Amino acid sequence: MAARIIDGKAVGAAVRERVATEVHAYESEHGRTPVLATVIVGEDPASEIYVRNKHKACEEAGMRSVHHGLPAETSENELLELVGELGLDREVDGILVQLPLPDHIDPDRVVAAIDPGKDVDGLTPVNAGLLAHGMSGLVPCTPAGVMELLRHEAVDLEGAEAVVVGRSKLVGVPVARLLLAANATVTVCHSRTRDLEETCSRADVLVAAVGVPRLLGPAAVKPGAVVIDVGMNRREDGLCGDVDFDRVVEVAAAITPVPGGVGPMTIAMLLVNTLAAARSRV
Ligand code: NAP
Repeated sequence: MAARIIDGKAVGAAVRERVATEVHAYESEHGRTPVLATVIVGEDPASEIYVRNKHKACEEAGMRSVHHGLPAETSENELLELVGELGLDREVDGILVQLPLPDHIDPDRVVAAIDPGKDVDGLTPVNAGLLAHGMSGLVPCTPAGVMELLRHEAVDLEGAEAVVVGRSKLVGVPVARLLLAANATVTVCHSRTRDLEETCSRADVLVAAVGVPRLLGPAAVKPGAVVIDVGMNRREDGLCGDVDFDRVVEVAAAITPVPGGVGPMTIAMLLVNTLAAARSRV
C-alpha cells in the first residue's frame, strides 16, 4: 500500500494561521507588532527570493520586517557592526543574516555576534548549546519544522529508532538533538558511515538532510517507516529530495514530498521564533 503523503503546505499554513492569531493578541497587549530584521550581503538571487518570501510571510502574519541589503564588498567588521546595532535596537525582535556570505566574511563569526535572544535562525553557539543541554532557546527553523510534522502526524517517538542522515549544524545535528529530547533512540549518519543502507533500514523514523538527489531508495527504508526528506536539490527536471520518492512511497507508512514537505515548514517556524523572541523580551 502506498504511503500517506505528509502535507507540509497544509501543516505550515496551520502554523502560520496560529501565529497570526497570537501576533494579534501580542499587538493588543503591547501596542506594537514583532519586527524581523533581515540582512543580505551581495547579490545572490536565491537569497533574494528566500528573504522576499520571509518578508511576505511576516506581513501575512501581521508582523513587520525591515531589510538591510549590503554591497558584496562590505567588510566583515562593517557587517559585525550592523549585527551589533540590530542587537541593541529596541524595535528589532529577530535578526536573520541570510547565508551564504561572500568568501571574505567568516559566517561563524557573524552568527556568533547575533544577540542570542534575537537569533531567530537558532544558529548562535548559545542557542546550539542550550539545545545540546536540553534547555529552551531558539531552535533552528528547519529542524523545528521536522518535529512539527512528526507531531502533526502523531508519530510515537518514545523509544523509536530514529536515523538522521546528515550532521550539519543547520539541520542534521539539531534534528538529532530534538529527536533525542523526544526520547527516540538516535543514530546520525554522514559521508563516512560504513553501511548507510543497512543503518537506515533499521529506522522507524528516517530523516534525510544530505543534499544528494535521491540517495536513499527502498532498500534504505524499513517497511512502515516514517520518512522526512529535508533535501532540496535543484535539477534540470525540477526540485527533488534526498529520497527516491517514487519508489520509497511504496515501502514507507508516511513520507514528505519535495517540494511541499519540509520546505513550507521552515518559514512557518521562522514566524514562530520571531514571535517567541518578541515575547521573551517583554
Ligand atoms: P550540508 O551542510 O552540506 O550537510 C550535508 C550532510 O550530509 C553532511 O553531514 C555530509 O556528511 C552528509 N553527506 C553528504 N553526502 C553523503 C552521503 N553520500 N552519504 C551520507 N551522508 C552524506 O547540508 P545541509 O545544510 O544540512 O542541507 C542538507 C539538505 O537539506 C540540502 O539538500 C539542503 O538544500 C536541504 N535544506 C532544506 C531546507 C528546507 O527548508 N527544506 C533547509 C535547509 C537545508 P559529512 O559531514 O561527513 O560531510
